[in-house]
Amino acid sequence: MKLVTFSTGTTSRVGVANAGVVCDASELLPSGAGLLEVIEGWDELGPALRERTVALPTLPLDSVELLAPIPTPRRNIFCVGKNYREHVAEFGRSGYDTPGRCKQLPAKPILFSKATTSVTGPTAAIAPHRGVTSELDYEGELCVIIGRGGRGITREHAYKHVWGYTIVNDVTARDLQRDHKQWLLGKSLDTHCPLGPYAVTADEITDVTALQIETTVNDERRQFAPVKDLIFDIPELIVTLSAGITLLPGDLIATGTPAGVGIGFDPPKFLTSGDLVEVSITGLGRLSNRIA
Ligand code: MG
Repeated sequence: MKLVTFSTGTTSRVGVANAGVVCDASELLPSGAGLLEVIEGWDELGPALRERTVALPTLPLDSVELLAPIPTPRRNIFCVGKNYREHVAEFGRSGYDTPGRCKQLPAKPILFSKATTSVTGPTAAIAPHRGVTSELDYEGELCVIIGRGGRGITREHAYKHVWGYTIVNDVTARDLQRDHKQWLLGKSLDTHCPLGPYAVTADEITDVTALQIETTVNDERRQFAPVKDLIFDIPELIVTLSAGITLLPGDLIATGTPAGVGIGFDPPKFLTSGDLVEVSITGLGRLSNRIA
């Protein structure tokens, strides 16, 4: 199932996207429930949605505005740095990495987070934040949505805790990332986390490692890689995070970006106003965001 959070102009609602239409799921859900609550109550709500989608009122997909599937996550988005080999190499060459660490492959996952307030919709404008940053960059990534929470999750059980998947653009202010050493600030500016367009349930994805990530800027392909190239795979990330942190339903994990980001080029190709950045992943749809 492809779930969406959509707006008709006045309210935001949860729906099921289906061949060009959105089925409005409001009547099946507790009043005011967003996708976060749907994921929390999935054991009951999932089967109801599955059985009764066909009977729901529909709206043409192009008549509604799709919002981020989880417009306000419960807490920061977990993110993974340097999780594709070729990206580690380009980051090292770029001069933006910490000297001394720049040529090594990480021995353990590098984890940081993005503020919840950075989340924006799949077609929303990305704010350039002039005066705050002058080095705006993109990072197309697969985003894992946690279903059942837990701590001390084992590798063997990790996929049982995955509710589904979406796409994230881990937009980065490279100058802030470099100058402030810790990445939170450079990763968290308002609108710098386009998310969506769909929250796709895990049962729709036969083999997540076979999915291909593609990022284009003004139709020029910049990133293209399979999820199987991850250095630390999805189970490893879940094991690492949940070892001492209780994962919660609806938690988001941005799994890392492949090679081809703006600072991977010489000279770097930063984003400027008017640029259209699109990230697509097999079966998960496309983010399409313009720099304001
Ligand atoms: Mg990233």
